[in-house]
Amino acid sequence: MSGALCISIDVELAWGVWDRPDPESLTRAAEERSIVRALVAMFERHDVSATWAIVGRLLDRDPARRPELWFAPEVIDTIRAAKVPQDIGSHSYAHVYFTDTPREELRRDLAHARQVHDAHGLPFTSFVFPKNRVAHTDLLAEAGVRVFRSVDRGWHIDARERFGATAGRVANLVDKLLPITPRVVEPIRHGDLVELPSSMLLMARNGLRRAAHPAAVRAKARRGLEAAVETGKTFHLWFHPSNFYFDGERQLAILEDIVTEAASLRRRQGLEIRPMSAYAC
Ligand SMILES: [Zn+2]
Repeated sequence: MSGALCISIDVELAWGVWDRPDPESLTRAAEERSIVRALVAMFERHDVSATWAIVGRLLDRDPARRPELWFAPEVIDTIRAAKVPQDIGSHSYAHVYFTDTPREELRRDLAHARQVHDAHGLPFTSFVFPKNRVAHTDLLAEAGVRVFRSVDRGWHIDARERFGATAGRVANLVDKLLPITPRVVEPIRHGDLVELPSSMLLMARNGLRRAAHPAAVRAKARRGLEAAVETGKTFHLWFHPSNFYFDGERQLAILEDIVTEAASLRRRQGLEIRPMSAYAC
């Protein structure tokens, strides 16, 4: 395979914080609509197909919940109507945490998600675990998923394992602040199911994270793209639309620079830009 950029996006509105719905998170959730529109327009400009992992309940109206926060069929329509085809995947039905939910409940959640996707004519090929809590992958295969995202395994994770949590946190921050090359990844086959680890999170620009200078974020992503071309591996970038809530214009500009660079490497060096579903075997 030639080197590639893969972008995956977790679309959830308030479902991402259903267990801790503080006012600020809810305000952010309501902004996801306009952010998704801006992202889709950007992907159309640069001919980018990305994966959008959606919470199934966004398509099931619950009369007891405020629709502007919990129900968003128009967001999925926006993605589906993109002039460049996008991969719509699953982020579970109700944003359940796979590491601490009984198997039978997980099985039911996945069956519900599958039903919603089938009812709306959406594929069910790509899957992103809520909170990236990877577990019970056999249940994904059973539900028909073909590719799932697993967690960044950067050097800062190794630091945490070797030197403990504090060292891990410091290393994580240093990793985000400096343009250290992110790890490029390869798909890992588990029978019919493919695991695609992530390389880099495009972080929100609030709190301490504002210290990550846009130039450092861009440089880091550029190194990831160059490493993908050199090695034939994949630079897998991921984020939530809500990561564009703080300092949104600047954050969109950062992503547009990354995507522009990728499109240029595609023309000059054959880099591919492909969604998670393209890794299905
Ligand atoms: Zn999520």
